[in-house]
Amino acid sequence: MKVGVLALQGDVREHLRALQDCGVEPISVRRPEEIKAVDALVIPGGESTTIAHLAQTFDVFDLISERIKSGLPVYGSCAGMILLADRVLDATADQRTFGGMDITVRRNAFGRQVDSFEIDIAMQALTHAAMRAVFIRAPWVEQIGPGVQVLSSVTREGVSHPVAVRQGHMLATSFHPELTEDSRIHRYFIEEVCKSA
Ligand code: GLN
Repeated sequence: MKVGVLALQGDVREHLRALQDCGVEPISVRRPEEIKAVDALVIPGGESTTIAHLAQTFDVFDLISERIKSGLPVYGSCAGMILLADRVLDATADQRTFGGMDITVRRNAFGRQVDSFEIDIAMQALTHAAMRAVFIRAPWVEQIGPGVQVLSSVTREGVSHPVAVRQGHMLATSFHPELTEDSRIHRYFIEEVCKSA
């Protein structure tokens, strides 16, 4: 299986390493012919507006969007989650996303005063042990469509906000497993999400 990491901006190298830990040989991709050739795609954390602009510059925006909608297994962390969302709150005026996931996300949802933090989260569908999750100017999910499964949530001021979601062949997390040594999310993507697609 050819797994690509979208290499326009963001923590590409960290995703490549996490995927290697799962026994696959990932490749970084940015050109149309490279993106056409992959069997699965990871969209890294970084800056969603920058990645979207660069995708247009490299003429791969529509290609990625179409491939996702026609069933390409895809995993997005943080900015990658925003790019997979059909709807974005607190977006910039001209912000576009690849879309595909029937979710509404709010950018920088945890507040500007809390730029980044780490907490243990539960993810019963994957593992019984807690998972250390790193959040950096992270989005959360505010609304989900009927086909979306919530894998993990974080509670703020009494309200539970999904931070890991799956919709069939699409997986997204608000946090960055690629910044820890824990490859359980990447393994879940390879072994469950890609295989079922
Ligand atoms: N806030 C960033 C954005 O809107 C995402 C941050 C991240 O990926 N760490 O793209």
